[in-house]
Amino acid sequence: MAKLYFYYSSMNAGKSIRLLQSSFNYRERGMDTILYTFKFDNRFGDAKISSRVGLDAPANTFDPELNIFADVLKKKTPKTACILVDEAQFLTKNHVRELCRVVDELDIPVLAYGLRSDFLGEPFEGSMYLLVLADELVEVKTICHCGKKAIMNAKFDANKKIIRNGEQIDIGGNEKYAPLCRKHFVDGVIDGPVN
Ligand SMILES: [Zn+2]
Repeated sequence: MAKLYFYYSSMNAGKSIRLLQSSFNYRERGMDTILYTFKFDNRFGDAKISSRVGLDAPANTFDPELNIFADVLKKKTPKTACILVDEAQFLTKNHVRELCRVVDELDIPVLAYGLRSDFLGEPFEGSMYLLVLADELVEVKTICHCGKKAIMNAKFDANKKIIRNGEQIDIGGNEKYAPLCRKHFVDGVIDGPVN
């Protein structure tokens, strides 16, 4: 029986590299995978999933209008062994339900990778419903500058001051987000002596 997996973490924990590794493993054994990532406003044409260590792979995109179940039905072949979703925090509630149908009706496993919470400490819609509906929850761990497990994502400005307001979706990397433990997120301490 196929399952829905949710790999969740804070920023920079290596989710995309794990996704690309899983896809590679399937393909190495002669099976096919279908990859999805979020369609950012500023990206057109063919999307790809990139990792910080330099690996990348072409991917389909999802936006709130897409019915992922219908899209998988259209794209799947007899060799399709797995659906992999990056930036899964940006899925809608409906998307998550559609992915459940991919698992339950098509018997194709779905591996979704995403952030548990946003920089305000609020849940993302996609992650919230994945936490509710996934068969398997897997935490991808990374650490705060203090060495404790990072469970929050802090957004900061040019002066390394934590930002506590703004839109939930604001794409960026190391230059504006940092994984922090809960205490340092609450205290707003972006950097520590260790880092
Ligand atoms: Zn800390």
